[in-house]
Amino acid sequence: MNTLKISDKITMKKYNVGILGATGIVGQNYINLLQDHPWFQIVDVAASPRSASKTYKEAVKTKWQMPNLIPDNIKDLVVRDVQDFEGMTKDLSFVFSAINMPTKEQIRELEIEYARRGIPVLSNNSAHRWSPDVPMMIGEINHEHVKVIPIQQKNRGFTKGFIVVKPNCSLQSYLTPIFALEQAGYKVDKLIITTLQAISGAGYPGVPSLDVIDNIIPYINGEEEKTEKEPHKILGKIAEKGIENDDSIEISSTCTRVAVSDGHTASVNVKFKERVPSKEEIIKIWNDFKSLPQELNLPFAPKQPIIYLHNIDRPQPKKDRDNDKGMALTVGRLREDNVFDFKFVALSHNTIRGAAGGSILSAELLVSKEYIS
Ligand code: NAP
Repeated sequence: MNTLKISDKITMKKYNVGILGATGIVGQNYINLLQDHPWFQIVDVAASPRSASKTYKEAVKTKWQMPNLIPDNIKDLVVRDVQDFEGMTKDLSFVFSAINMPTKEQIRELEIEYARRGIPVLSNNSAHRWSPDVPMMIGEINHEHVKVIPIQQKNRGFTKGFIVVKPNCSLQSYLTPIFALEQAGYKVDKLIITTLQAISGAGYPGVPSLDVIDNIIPYINGEEEKTEKEPHKILGKIAEKGIENDDSIEISSTCTRVAVSDGHTASVNVKFKERVPSKEEIIKIWNDFKSLPQELNLPFAPKQPIIYLHNIDRPQPKKDRDNDKGMALTVGRLREDNVFDFKFVALSHNTIRGAAGGSILSAELLVSKEYIS
């Protein structure tokens, strides 16, 4: 489908969108980011029974963390309990899910119930990440994985609904650069990754200030397993029953929490399998990398998905997380490694590229590929 056709279609009407978990950190990012979206408009906000029946502005009160005021068209919407299916706005095209519940099983069941009722769900939660028939998308890497949606619908008896998920919020910063190198013919053998993850990654109120100020916490529950395993599914291939993992890259990781508000940084050491590119080739591959979201000129697609900075002291979260409205990945400090082949530092905005913005981009891909109608 060409760009003209997409924009023609979209200018005719906006898609009605709901946000599950609208009062949390990721939910607030959806509200902030979708304010002027050319295709999507928020018409339904839902959260826990604690927030249900309150206006959005009452429900978030002092929790609102965005740099702008609550948009006028959202502040007086009445928050729905996510379990109140009858109260859902009738003509929803799809929902973004940013809920946290006590157990993954509760989230899994809730998202399935929306899909069963014909509503596509784009989720930030990890509850469905390991189902082979659920695509775990990074728009620039595995947009082809949307092709498992019909398999999922058949397996689960969904008619119009389906579930698509985002990977863990720290992955995009380094996996997209690694994917770009693999695509250019430089197969990667091993990665050692150390992440320095922002406080907003833990939601609101998140990590207690006395634990994190003047400190680094060298453990985030479940994060190292996600860092080491999720890339295998993202780089996987579609098979008869769903996505088959590609575990050809061995990954070892250490994940830490640091006193940064937004922006997950990763220090990455890379060993190639056979051919090893030069430093100049790597930088050129990264700066030139483009994929389907850029070809389609989607509203949330960063113009240059990977930005390489030559300054010796970059990337830095405070200075680089908002590049291209928080959707670009910024890398730097590429240098030869004494043990592996190369090492570099990568950064992405965790609540934008790694959560709300990343799944808005997935939704745009699903619209352009006509899975959402
Ligand atoms: P958060 O700030 O803690 O927000 C949680 C949301 O879930 C709130 O809207 C909350 O509603 C709702 N909720 C809590 N308990 C509930 C219940 N029992 N039933 C229904 N709704 C309930 O969390 P967050 O950081 O936005 O994260 C949301 C999801 O995105 C999580 O699955 C997280 O793992 C994932 N994620 C987060 C990030 C990030 O950088 N923060 C990145 C990627 C993915 P109330 O306000 O009414 O309590």
